[in-house]
Amino acid sequence: MEIKITRTTSPKEKPADETKLSFGKIFTDHMFLMNYDEGEGWHDPRIVPYGSLPMDPASMCLHYGQAVFEGLKAYLTADGHVQLFRPDQNMARLNVSNDRLCIPKIDEKFGVKAIETLVEVDKEWIPKSYGTSLYIRPFIFAADPMLGVHPAKHLIFAIICSPVGAYYAAGLAPVKIYVEQNYVRAVTGGTGFTKAAANYAISLKAQEVSEKQGYEQVLWLDGIHRKYIEEVGSMNVFFVIDGEVVTPSLERRSILSGITRKSCLEVLKAKGYKTSERDIKIDELVKAYDKGKLNEAFGTGTAAVISPIGELKYGDKVMTINNGEIGPVSRMLYDTITGIQWGVIKDDFGWTVRID
Ligand SMILES: *Cc1c(COP(=O)(O)O)cnc(C)c1O
Repeated sequence: MEIKITRTTSPKEKPADETKLSFGKIFTDHMFLMNYDEGEGWHDPRIVPYGSLPMDPASMCLHYGQAVFEGLKAYLTADGHVQLFRPDQNMARLNVSNDRLCIPKIDEKFGVKAIETLVEVDKEWIPKSYGTSLYIRPFIFAADPMLGVHPAKHLIFAIICSPVGAYYAAGLAPVKIYVEQNYVRAVTGGTGFTKAAANYAISLKAQEVSEKQGYEQVLWLDGIHRKYIEEVGSMNVFFVIDGEVVTPSLERRSILSGITRKSCLEVLKAKGYKTSERDIKIDELVKAYDKGKLNEAFGTGTAAVISPIGELKYGDKVMTINNGEIGPVSRMLYDTITGIQWGVIKDDFGWTVRID
C-alpha cells in the first residue's frame, strides 16, 4: 500500500526551548491515518496535516472503550541521524492488543513503514539535545456510529508525534512508589497484557490516592491473591535482591510485556548478571528489605527508560531503598540503553533502525 502524503501549508512554530518540553503537550505538523471498513480491510493510508478528527457522538470507542495504543520514540543520534528503537516490537505488541480487543490486525511491517514515513516527514520536529526525543503514539479506535455492543466494523489507525524533553533534566531522580492494596489493575483472563486504553482509565483512582499521600506512582499487586508484585503505573518493575536481578514473569498474563523490560533482560544476560523472571511476593520483598538484601528497585518503560525507586510504601511500612539513590545496576542499564538509543554506544543487539 502506498502512503499518500499531503503536507501542511501552514507549519506550526516549533518549541523554542528544548529544555522546557513537557510530556505529550505539543504535536508535530502531521499525522498518519488509515481506515478499516468491513469488507475492505485496512485501506487509504495517508499522512495529512495534524488536526481534529470528525467524530459521530455515537462512535463506539467513546462508549465502550474499544481502543488500543503503543508508544515509542525517534532519536536524533550524536552524529545527526534519525533512528527508532525496536519499532517491530511495538507493532507486534499492537497486534497482541488488537487480538484481545477484537480489533482487526494490522500488517506489522506496514505499521513500521507508516511510523518511519511520518517521522521522516516531521523530522525537523525531533529535538536535538541529548536525552530529548520525538515520542510516537500509534493508536486504534472503534468508529462505528452505533450503540450496540459488538466488535467494531469500522476503525481508525492513527499515529501522532510529540517532541519530548529529557525525562531527567536534573539527573536520574529516584521516585516514591505506593503499594496499592485496595484497587486492582488486571487479573488473569483480562487485558493486563495489552496496551488497552481501558487499563489506564481504571488505574486513575489508585494513582490519585497515591498522589494525595505524596507518592508518584502505584505498584500493583496481582488481582486475585493480592500478594504477587505486578508492575508500576506504566512501567515494568525490577528488583535487585541479594545480587540477583528479578522481575515478575509474564505467565499470569496480567502485566504488559514491556520492550524496555525485555531489552534490560537481554543487556543483563549479555553482561553476565544473574537474572530471573518469576513470581515475587510482596512479603519476600519486605523480608529482603529487613535483612538488608533489597539492593535496588527500578521501573522500566519507554518514557523514562529506567526509573530508580527510592522509596516503597506498603501499608504502614516505608522502605527506603539504596538510601534513596540510584544503584549500580539501574545506572548501568540506563547508560547502556540510552547510549544505544542516542547512538553513543555501538548497538551490538541490532535494536536500532536508522531512517535517514
Ligand atoms: C507501556 C507500558 C509499559 C512499558 O512498556 P515499554 O514497551 O517498555 O514502553 C509497562 N507497563 C504498562 C502498563 C504499559 O502500558
